[in-house]
Amino acid sequence: MLSYMAEYDDIVCEECKNEDESVKNNLIMTGYKLCDSCKLSKTIFPV
Ligand SMILES: [Zn+2]
Repeated sequence: MLSYMAEYDDIVCEECKNEDESVKNNLIMTGYKLCDSCKLSKTIFPV
């Protein structure tokens, strides 16, 4: 559990380079290091 948390301590969005807590959640949920606003533009196109 502890190592699982440590893997996701990088919260810099790959798209806009901003640090955002949502980047961590989106990486776990979607596999993309994106903040919520960047994720919205990405999720318009289904994987
Ligand atoms: Zn972003």
